[in-house]
Amino acid sequence: MPYALPKLGFTFDALEPYIDAKTMEIHYGKHHQAYCDNANKALAGTPFAEQPIEDVLKDLEAIPVEKRTAVRNHGGGFANHNMFWTVLGPKSDAPSGSFAESLKKSFGSVDAFRETFETAALGQFGSGWAWLVKQDDALEVMHLPNQDSPLSVGKTPLLCLDVWEHAYYLKYQNRRGEYVKAFWQVVNWKEVEKRFSEV
Ligand code: MN
Repeated sequence: MPYALPKLGFTFDALEPYIDAKTMEIHYGKHHQAYCDNANKALAGTPFAEQPIEDVLKDLEAIPVEKRTAVRNHGGGFANHNMFWTVLGPKSDAPSGSFAESLKKSFGSVDAFRETFETAALGQFGSGWAWLVKQDDALEVMHLPNQDSPLSVGKTPLLCLDVWEHAYYLKYQNRRGEYVKAFWQVVNWKEVEKRFSEV
């Protein structure tokens, strides 16, 4: 079964004014679709095509070397966007419960976590993603270039933010900082907490 785009849980305009409808339409329909198509091309005819993309990314060394870069880039792009849409939503609230406690333990406070995450998002030079990840019992913020996945370095992603220019340029142009601040208005914390509880 080739990979296919997951259905969005909201309409293209649902994240307005923080993430605009045109950006959502192109980001999902063109960029994400291209990662999906190219991941399918890269894995076609290999036994890896039968595996969930997350499992493939956890063991990139197993991929034949001539296909590995394509799988890392396009398989990563497919998986990262699959996740990104689930952690976005039109009505953001706040972290709660044991997840909020864990944020406080790891970063000092929820506000300090947000600052650390913003710094990571701004600190990624060029294209990439900011991540909140879990490894063992610790929460950690990191940024990774291109479409690299935390799964490939043994970490479980809980929250992600795409800081490729295609994610914000139509609305924010070069103002990545404004986009990163706006992101907090559209985080689906229930999904992040679900991921936290399942690790
Ligand atoms: Mn993207």
